[in-house]
Amino acid sequence: MMNTPLLMTQMLERAEKYFSKKQVISRTEGGIHRFTYKEMAARTRSLASCLKELGVEKGDRVGTLAWNHHRHLEAYFAVPCSGAVLHTINIRLAPQQIAYIINHAEDKVLLIDSDLLPLIHAIKDELQTVKAFIIMTDNETLPETDLTPIYHYEKLLEQGNPIFQFEPGLDENDPAGMCYTSATTGNPKGVVYTHRGIVLHSMALGLADSAALSEKDVAMPIVPMFHVNAWGLPFAGVWFGTTQVLPGPYFTPKLIAELIQSEKVTISAGVPTIWLGLLKEMEENQYDLSSLRGLICGGSAAPKGMIKAFEQKYNIPFMHAYGMTETSPIVLVSTLKSYQQELPEEEIYELKSKQGVLVPCLEIKVMGAEGEVNPDGKEMGELLIRGPWIASEYYKDERSQDAFRDGWLYTGDVATIDEEGFVKIVDRTKDLIKSGGEWISSVDLENALMAHEAVFEAAVIAVPHEQWQERPVACVVLKEAFKNMVSKEELVEFIAPQFAKWWLPDDIIFMEDIPKTSVGKFLKRELREQVTQELSK
Ligand code: ADP
Repeated sequence: MMNTPLLMTQMLERAEKYFSKKQVISRTEGGIHRFTYKEMAARTRSLASCLKELGVEKGDRVGTLAWNHHRHLEAYFAVPCSGAVLHTINIRLAPQQIAYIINHAEDKVLLIDSDLLPLIHAIKDELQTVKAFIIMTDNETLPETDLTPIYHYEKLLEQGNPIFQFEPGLDENDPAGMCYTSATTGNPKGVVYTHRGIVLHSMALGLADSAALSEKDVAMPIVPMFHVNAWGLPFAGVWFGTTQVLPGPYFTPKLIAELIQSEKVTISAGVPTIWLGLLKEMEENQYDLSSLRGLICGGSAAPKGMIKAFEQKYNIPFMHAYGMTETSPIVLVSTLKSYQQELPEEEIYELKSKQGVLVPCLEIKVMGAEGEVNPDGKEMGELLIRGPWIASEYYKDERSQDAFRDGWLYTGDVATIDEEGFVKIVDRTKDLIKSGGEWISSVDLENALMAHEAVFEAAVIAVPHEQWQERPVACVVLKEAFKNMVSKEELVEFIAPQFAKWWLPDDIIFMEDIPKTSVGKFLKRELREQVTQELSK
């Protein structure tokens, strides 16, 4: 067989040649922007030529601080196709962390949305390597700033070369992108993606039993382009000629519903909190979302009640998936097998709320506390993964040796695998509750609580306990219409039939809001501190 390299340049060229009429629809500060892949490719080439002019060389890092929009998509290809490395920066990190990752990645150029400029102003004196700032805006003029040298994205592109030829000497193992993931303690850890990894991962998104992304889709990644590359959808979307809808800054559940309706979105992707918000919006207002063939949900466990509500009440198929920054991210997708479609309803939703079956090309195993492999995965243990789109180390980081051992990625997630190969993520190692020497899954309790009609969100955490070491306590946000109408006892009674008595939470605390991480997951560390403090008063 020929050993031709797998390069991102081929992905863009395919869209340019074969899908020149297909559109990218983008919501920006100025309204809805539409253009074709032909225009996108020409602008991408112009951007690549400008980066070269600015001194970006092969292997240099170019950072982006940007929402999901067409200019960010151009950078998604212009940077790696020039041989440089696209470093998508999580705009929701603390300023010191943003400064850390820009310095650690040694970003040479930063592409910044004008509304995010204050993030850089706050840390500008700490930046050690940035040689140029490019502002992405619909406005003719640049916002007020003392950053230098500073460029206006659109004006820069006017001087660029729309037929610029990309870096010819690329190797498929050259770095193409990087993304930092938050660590439990210490600074974020960098993960580098190669051209090969991105191409193969994109291919996996097109498989019929994973996301089945195709030319016929209208795909809207709600998951930010700074969160594991919007789960790879923009890359695969360009390659396959998929129509893309990029929802831009500061979107709301209402705006998501309106975009799905007006642009006839067929597939969208986001974390559970996004879909909980959409569900609430759909309960309050009428929309026609019948174009949807699937909602991909990952990042944290999708509650069974939510999956059921989308599928049964609104006839919208739900696709639960699992992955991490270190895995590009797709690893598991909960697609039912042909003969499972006829199972009783309860069993179907049990399977759909698991994280699913392994995507081709990857390998997994479950390892017990003593380092023994659980041959059938029935006993819970840490999930280990390897494969061609799984990182092999953290970028210049000593913590690599904890997570990458013997050719496997140690995920820090505790899992079981059933006889059909469906993996269930029981919990994150650090969130499991250890009560009297036994483990309690916070995720299972949350799932059960969120199935109650009055509950909007529930997060279960471990609080220290003298006798039992740790005990579960639930933090619950009630839906508006049920505020002050449901008691703690009622909720415990509701979930009691599903659990052994010692699993039930010792307390339920009603809250207005559950603190979330930078990517919309429950911030359990902070919640734990908050609750432990409150209970000890
Ligand atoms: P962070 O660690 O900052 O949250 P990631 O986005 O890389 O960054 O998170 C990966 C983690 O998210 C996984 O290790 C796992 O704990 C969790 N996760 C992802 N998808 C799911 C899912 N479908 N169900 C449960 N947990 C999930």
